[in-house]
Amino acid sequence: MTGRLARKVALVTGAASGIGLATARRFAAEGAELALADRNANGLASIEAELRAGGGKPLAITMDVTQEADWSRAIDAVTAHFGRLEILVNNAGFGRFRSIADTTLAEWRATLAVNLDSVFLGTRQALPLLARSGRGAIVNMSSIRGLVAGPNAGAYSAAKAGVRLFTKVTALECAAAGNGVRANSVHPGHVETPLTATAYANPAVAREFLAETPLARFARPEEVADLVVYLASDESSYVTGSEFTIDGGLTAR
Ligand code: NAD
Repeated sequence: MTGRLARKVALVTGAASGIGLATARRFAAEGAELALADRNANGLASIEAELRAGGGKPLAITMDVTQEADWSRAIDAVTAHFGRLEILVNNAGFGRFRSIADTTLAEWRATLAVNLDSVFLGTRQALPLLARSGRGAIVNMSSIRGLVAGPNAGAYSAAKAGVRLFTKVTALECAAAGNGVRANSVHPGHVETPLTATAYANPAVAREFLAETPLARFARPEEVADLVVYLASDESSYVTGSEFTIDGGLTAR
């Protein structure tokens, strides 16, 4: 296999849908061996079967990324199945858009758990394996909402902004340790996925989002996956602690 990710094992969270699913497909096409993680067991089974039909031998891990015990189990499974790990993509996440006044403490905590705790837990648990590879890469899925504010996204923005700086701290700690692990964050704008389908189906919302996007269209998940491939590959060997917007120009204004 001579792909851009040949001889690399990658763990992708949120691999059953949207950006994570597109990333799993692109990684497989570039020769990576895949551990696919999601809490949606049916969705996982479907991408697992697709990759097997293509000749791959993926490992599917049904897990909740907010749970430390699930991460321990996931890393144990990766170790048993592959014996190594070169790439971690912390992609699983979700957002519920409400004003601060309408956000309950339970919703706040749930949003931070899935978008931010998950990145901390995954990074901490995977680092020993990534470091052992001597050329590890962590790609954390943030959002433009982790860079610029918008109304009704308090918990989501706080979580995604946390992901941005946590990623930079990860990069600095790994550089200081000299363990060869790089860490970068990705900040998509409006991407058409099952997560956003309901919102985009509302013509007023779609108009508003397209109006703030200079390219005047939504991204396809595959376009984000292409950036993740670059950050996961050795092509980005001098890139760490950086943030990458992929937003059709939205934050350029
Ligand atoms: P999606 O809903 O299509 O896919 C997310 C996947 O994560 C789903 O398969 C879901 O089952 C899984 N997941 C959610 N919570 C989980 C948990 N606790 N444990 C395990 N798996 C869990 O969403 P998407 O649009 O592909 O989003 C992927 C990432 O990209 C998210 O972090 C999201 O915040 C970010 N993002 C998306 C957009 C966009 O416009 N779609 C924009 C910016 C950032």
